[in-house]
Amino acid sequence: MNGSILQSSESLCEAFGLTVTRRHQRLALLSLARGDHQLALRLQDEVIAPNVTEIVDLFYDRLMADPESSQFIGGEHHLSHLKETQTGYLLTLGKAFDTEAYFESRLRAGLAHAWVGLPLTTYHCGYHILQSLILSFIRKMVTEDAFEPLLLFLLKIISLDMSLAIEAYHSAQVEELMRSLEKMKHRQQLLQERVRIDSLTSVFSRSQILESLTRCITEARAHGHSLSIVMLDIDHFKRINDRCGHQVGDLVLRQVARRFMMAVRDADMVGRFGGEEFLAILPGADKARALQIAERIRTHTASSPVKSDQQLIDVSVSGGVATLSQIDDLEALVARADRALYQAKNTGRNKVIYLDSEEEGLAGGALE
Ligand code: GH3
Ligand code: MG
Ligand code: MG
Repeated sequence: MNGSILQSSESLCEAFGLTVTRRHQRLALLSLARGDHQLALRLQDEVIAPNVTEIVDLFYDRLMADPESSQFIGGEHHLSHLKETQTGYLLTLGKAFDTEAYFESRLRAGLAHAWVGLPLTTYHCGYHILQSLILSFIRKMVTEDAFEPLLLFLLKIISLDMSLAIEAYHSAQVEELMRSLEKMKHRQQLLQERVRIDSLTSVFSRSQILESLTRCITEARAHGHSLSIVMLDIDHFKRINDRCGHQVGDLVLRQVARRFMMAVRDADMVGRFGGEEFLAILPGADKARALQIAERIRTHTASSPVKSDQQLIDVSVSGGVATLSQIDDLEALVARADRALYQAKNTGRNKVIYLDSEEEGLAGGALE
C-alpha cells in the first residue's frame, strides 16, 4: 500500500490491492457465487427491509448493555446518528456484493470505525450480534425451505463484510502507529542532536567533545599518532556581558565559536566545554603543529571586532595547549591544558601557552 490510505485519492480497493482477481478470490474463498444475488434480494425484501428499524434498535440495545461499547456510543456519538448509519448499512447488506463499489463501501466503513476509535471488541462482537439478530428475523419471516439457504448466505455475506471492514480497520491503526513511530523517531533524533550539539554555538556539546576525546586518545594510542588539545577561554567575557548585555554576550559566543571553527582543520573538533570555555581536539598534531593551530585560533578570534547592531566589540581568547603523553589519561591531558590556560590568563591573556607533560613548565613558551 503506497502513501497514506487516509489521504489517498485512489480507490480503497486499489489502496488495499483488491484487484478484480483478488476480489473474485475473496468471494470464492467464502463460496459467494452468482446464485447468491437472488438470496441477497430475498434477504433484503423479506427479512431486512420490513424489520430494519427493529433490528437496528435491538442491535444498539445489545451494545448499550455492554459497558465498554455503551461508553463509546453514549459518550462520543449521538445514538440516532449511529442508528441512521447502521440502517443504511443494513439496507445495502449483500446487494451487488461482487462489485467494486460494494467492497469499497465495506472498506470505508472499517476506516471510519478506526478513525472514530471504536474498540475492536465492539466491532468484532457487533458483527456477531447483527448476524444473530438477522438470523432470528429470518426464522420469523421466511418459510422453512428458504431458511437454510438464507442462513448460509447470511453467514457468508457477514464474513465478507467483516473481513473487509476489519482489514481496513487494522490498516488504519497500523498506519496511525507508523505515523507516531515516525514522529517519535524524529523527536529522538532532535533530542540526540540536542545532546550532541551545543544549542547556542552549534559546536559540539561538552559531553560530545569529551566522548570524542576519549575516542581520539584510544585511536592515537592504537596507531602511535600524536594528539593535542587546546583549552580556550574568552578573555574578560564578563565585561562584555556587563557592558553590552547578556544577549550581545550570546552573540559574541556564537561568533567566537564560528571563528574557532574557521581556524581549525577539517579533522579537528571544537566543543563548548562550559560557559565561555571551549575545547579543541587536534588529532595527529604534535606540539609544533598544535601551537601553530592554537595560535591561528587566537589571531583569527582577535582579528576583527564582533559586530552587534551599532557596537563593535573587541574580543580575544587565551589558550592552553597540551599533547598526549605516554602516561596521560583524559583527565591528566585536560588538566594540563587547563593549567596552561591558567598561565596564559595570568601572564596577560590573548596568548597561547603550551605545557609539557614532564617539565610542566613553559616548554613551548608564550606566543603573543
Ligand atoms: P577571564 O578573562 O579571566 O576568563 O575573565 P572572564 O570574565 O571571561 O571570566 P569569568 O569566569 O569571570 O566570567 C565568565 C562569564 O561568562 C560569566 C558568565 O556569566 C558568562 N557566561 C557563561 N555562559 C554564558 C552564556 O551562555 N551566555 C552569556 N552571555 N554569558 C555567559
Ligand atoms: Mg573567560
Ligand atoms: Mg572561563
